[in-house]
Amino acid sequence: MKHSVSEQDFQKACASIPGGVNSPVRAFANVDCSPVFYDHAQGSHVWDVDGNEYVDFICSWGPMILGHRPAAVDAAVRAQLDKGVSYGAPCEAEIEMAQEICRIVPSAEKARMVSSGTEATMSAIRLARGFTGRPKFIKFEGNYHGHSDALLVSAGSGVATFGIPGTPGVTDGAVADTIVLPYNDLEAVEKAFQAQPDSIACVIVEPIAGNMGVVAPADGFLAGLRELCTRYGALLIFDEVISGFRAALGGAQERYGVLPDLCTFGKIIGGGFPVGCFAGRADVMSALAPEGPVYQAGTLSGNPVAMQAGLAQLRELQKPGVYERLEELGARLEAGLNEAIERTSTRACVNRVGSLCTLFFTDGPVRNWDDAAACDTQMFARYFRGMLDRGYLIAPSQFEALFLSVAHTEEEIDAFTTAVVDVLGDIA
Ligand code: PLP
Repeated sequence: MKHSVSEQDFQKACASIPGGVNSPVRAFANVDCSPVFYDHAQGSHVWDVDGNEYVDFICSWGPMILGHRPAAVDAAVRAQLDKGVSYGAPCEAEIEMAQEICRIVPSAEKARMVSSGTEATMSAIRLARGFTGRPKFIKFEGNYHGHSDALLVSAGSGVATFGIPGTPGVTDGAVADTIVLPYNDLEAVEKAFQAQPDSIACVIVEPIAGNMGVVAPADGFLAGLRELCTRYGALLIFDEVISGFRAALGGAQERYGVLPDLCTFGKIIGGGFPVGCFAGRADVMSALAPEGPVYQAGTLSGNPVAMQAGLAQLRELQKPGVYERLEELGARLEAGLNEAIERTSTRACVNRVGSLCTLFFTDGPVRNWDDAAACDTQMFARYFRGMLDRGYLIAPSQFEALFLSVAHTEEEIDAFTTAVVDVLGDIA
């Protein structure tokens, strides 16, 4: 495949954008190749500026669960463009969005819209601290909750990809109240609560981890967190920025039957526009200004174009068979990948939950960040480049998920796993 226009674009971008990209993992830095610049996308396919066509398993890192340019979302956005793109004032689409979220998400009684997942988790932590009057919170290694200071410790996603424990610019003070524990380790959580029973405001967790690659919650882990939070008077926050409206219509909380006090969303509810949301128990949410004392605000919060795009996407997701279809495609992908591993005798394993999947280059099992960190990232880089050459876009990092959409087909999944056999055979 020829990438000369992408390469020229990257050179130009580097002159005026730090590292040439607006989000680090996009630079393909850890897979030793130049990033692809997209030109357009449709359904499960994207085309780059050199005219190459790919099957897209990044799906904008999750939002494009219907594939690119679903007709219903396009139409809703076009209709809103004729009515104005931003008001900075209340509009009816915001009410409809909050009502939809509260109707669909089991734990949501009230919802507030923001403009990114980062804002959603940052605001949920502030609210939990304000509501409980306690300073500390627990997060898990390899979980990523956006790039706000207090949460950027032992984080997954790009932080893990670049192999840094945190980042310069985050002061010791900013993370002094962040307690970091291993994922899926309930005993460690219990010990932390025993040590500081009155100081911990909340536990924030990716109920299905997607940012160290996909890691499912161990049996009883989420229920155990629920029980400990209730026992110690702390709030449980599910960060469902990835799992929300994907693991099931009502997210991981519906899939696993465990209700958090607060939950955060992004990605899918914006239909591809910049959106986030935090939601939960009415008594907790009512502590937010102007109803209560905990301040939080946003110029573009509840933006009408983003609301209409998100609402149209949510309506499509409620049509019969969507989640069954995602599960079927996911199961087919998992089986194909396992067969590819077996046929090529590769040291690798597969984790999958619904339409989220990761091929880890380690014997496995992968249950937490230590397991994920043992992966052969050089092998991953060779796998990534082999798949790119064959027209498949997967996330350029071992520590990310592969995203399926309802626009993918059985034929595409089968062709993908056939290509995986080819690539694993070449790179072993
Ligand atoms: N939380 C989770 C679980 C995420 O995966 C992400 C981003 O990928 C975020 C929060 C941050 O969202 P955003 O990138 O929209 O700020």
